[in-house]
Amino acid sequence: MTWRASVLTLFPEMFPGPLAHSLAGRALAAGIWTLDPVNIRDFAHDRHRTVDDTPFGGGPGMVMRPDVIDAALATVVDDRPTVYLTPRGRRFTQADAQRYAAASGLVLLCGRYEGIDERVIDARAPEEISLGDYVLSGGELAAMVVLDAAIRLLPGVMGAADSATEESFSQHLLEYPHYTRPAEWQGRRVPEVLLSGHHGAVAAWRRAEAERITRARRPDLWDAYRAATPASPLASATAANAHVASPAGAP
Ligand code: SAM
Repeated sequence: MTWRASVLTLFPEMFPGPLAHSLAGRALAAGIWTLDPVNIRDFAHDRHRTVDDTPFGGGPGMVMRPDVIDAALATVVDDRPTVYLTPRGRRFTQADAQRYAAASGLVLLCGRYEGIDERVIDARAPEEISLGDYVLSGGELAAMVVLDAAIRLLPGVMGAADSATEESFSQHLLEYPHYTRPAEWQGRRVPEVLLSGHHGAVAAWRRAEAERITRARRPDLWDAYRAATPASPLASATAANAHVASPAGAP
């Protein structure tokens, strides 16, 4: 079944943009997903194709009209999750990406100006999703981020070599460090355990490193990990310390 993305935007020409490349682009060409950019302006009903107006109560900027947005949504909304990208939304997570990938597709609504009239948000009740605590000038880049994160999880998009199961956030942990050739670079050696050919030791080292990094950088994730993994092998942090990358010859 093809995964279908509909993106409501004032700038349909921005799409697919970066999504025409690499993993998402190959999947698009292969028909694993389809993209339907919907020009919100096509649903304006005056001869100037007006999509916005001044805010009631005064204040700066313009607000996107509810009747125009609703008419655009009416043409695409179905059983897919509908998402409005907004800094007021809940922070986007890997769990959302997994949920969207498991759905039949997504309807993404991109705001511009000061945003969208609240009444159409109340009436349509989309999921309100934010990329983070900063303000973008429009929802398009946010929609591309959400799409990219979901599409790479669709069956057949990533090869077995790119498995998502060990990626950051997949088990409440940030990912362990990666190394490739040369084994020594500018006096820095790859941790010996990775050269050992001992799969069990490599797996233990990676888990310990993922724990060490998560604990140091993301106490929120670390708490979630410990709650989900009661027998959390904290002791493995000791093993990690023994193998941390260090300059050649360093103890
Ligand atoms: N006046 C709004 C506010 O202060 O919350 C900001 C509007 S912003 C200039 C225009 C549009 O960009 C928003 O309607 C939304 O679609 C999108 N946008 C901006 N920041 C975003 C973020 N952090 N996450 C998701 N979408 C964002």
